[in-house]
Amino acid sequence: MAAALNGTTSALTELYAGTDFSALNWFEQQWVAWYIYIGNPIVATGLMSFLLHEIVYFGRSIPWIIIDAMPYFRKWKLQPNKIPTPAEQWACTKQVLFSHFTIELPAIWLFHPMAESFGMKTYQVPFPSLKIMAPQIFLFFFFEDFFHFVAHQALHTGVLYKHIHKIHHKYSAPFGLAAEYAHPAEVFILGAGTILGPILYCYFTQNLHIVTVYIWIVLRLFQAIDAHSGYDFPWSLHNIVPFWSGAEHHDFHHMAFTNNFSTSFRWWDRIFGTDTKYREYRARVKAAKKAMTKEQQLEFERKLMAQVEAEGIVAEAEAEKMSLLGGNKKNKVQ
Ligand SMILES: [Zn+2]
Ligand SMILES: [Zn+2]
Repeated sequence: MAAALNGTTSALTELYAGTDFSALNWFEQQWVAWYIYIGNPIVATGLMSFLLHEIVYFGRSIPWIIIDAMPYFRKWKLQPNKIPTPAEQWACTKQVLFSHFTIELPAIWLFHPMAESFGMKTYQVPFPSLKIMAPQIFLFFFFEDFFHFVAHQALHTGVLYKHIHKIHHKYSAPFGLAAEYAHPAEVFILGAGTILGPILYCYFTQNLHIVTVYIWIVLRLFQAIDAHSGYDFPWSLHNIVPFWSGAEHHDFHHMAFTNNFSTSFRWWDRIFGTDTKYREYRARVKAAKKAMTKEQQLEFERKLMAQVEAEGIVAEAEAEKMSLLGGNKKNKVQ
């Protein structure tokens, strides 16, 4: 880093004038070196944001591809009869890359000027303490979850479903890579829930560092990919934190088409009653576990899944016919 610091006389170096580099931790030193090496904060932030998103998205999806290829893990698969084929995974990857380069790349690039205009810190060091970051990140989780809960239900109506959200519902048994398999307009609409929280927070408090936003986005990507993984392990987070959604919650949304519209938490679906079918399904599976032999139970679950999925296909057709303003019809698909 010293070489990078000595080797440039850019305006950025002047921005770091008076900074005691020996007081910085390793991450902060790398941060400074990156901004000085690139020499232009807009490009440095844009490039770092895009790379972070790609590395985390595909880095987190690869373990799920491996798990899908190993029969050992099948016992924890929520819909064990539906394992994605390599061809499906590749088709999904191509679509995801297409929307990453057409929608997310420009959006990420515009993020730096927008963030700075709202007073967000970017190249600055040191980073905020964990005590400052943790509550901010929780607030972003809370905001995104509610935003998604509302916007996702709107996407389940009429033209919005037919022309936009239907793509994401191509897979009734999702897998990690399918988390961002969606129409570019959906990536934009639902992505707003991830970005608006930090922007509003920054606008009102003038106290937010982009590194906090990065940690939030990494956690949000983990949440989205894991929720689409299709696996529920005994050590999955929702078994430890009961209000966490996880795959056990979102997999049902893909299988049944209805219910479970939120992302991270279960509370809004519970409060607004958009989880009744899901809870009834879980209760039936649980009762079968008590009363039946292992074979009978597997057979019962298979039949129940087929029934829920068939009902979902009917609900999907109804959603396509629905008008956004047709409130009376809405109850049918919830
Ligand atoms: Zn949906
Ligand atoms: Zn989904």
